[in-house]
Amino acid sequence: MVEREYQQFAGQFVIGKRLFSYNFGAILTRREQEIEEWLEAHPIVPIDKESIDETMRNNQNHTNLRLELEEIREAKVRWELGIYGICMEDDCGIDIPEERLILIPHGKRCAKCQQKREKSHPSKRRYW
Ligand SMILES: [Zn+2]
Repeated sequence: MVEREYQQFAGQFVIGKRLFSYNFGAILTRREQEIEEWLEAHPIVPIDKESIDETMRNNQNHTNLRLELEEIREAKVRWELGIYGICMEDDCGIDIPEERLILIPHGKRCAKCQQKREKSHPSKRRYW
C-alpha cells in the first residue's frame, strides 16, 4: 500500500500507552479483506504439467497469503487489546516505529529482533 493511500487512515489513535498517526486497525482489516478475496478467487490447484510454473506460483502465493492472513488477524487482536506495535520478542518489548509498521502492518518484532530471528531461523525469513 502506498503512502498516499495511508492518508485516508490518518488521524490520532490511542492504543494502549501509544499514540498512532494511522488507524492500523482499519489498515489491517482492509488488507485482510484483500487477501480473503484473493484466496477465494485463487484456490490451491493441482499442479498442471502444461502450466507448471503458473500452478506452482499460484499455490505458493496461496500458502504465503494464508500465513500472512493469520499474522494480520493476530495483529488485529493486538490492536484491540492495546498492545499493537510492541515488539513481541520475550526479552524486548520496545515500541516498533510507525515507519516500520507502515511497511509491515502485521509486524510483531522490531528490526533488531527480526534480524536476530532471521539469523537463527533462516527458513522463517518471510514471516514477520
Ligand atoms: Zn524487539
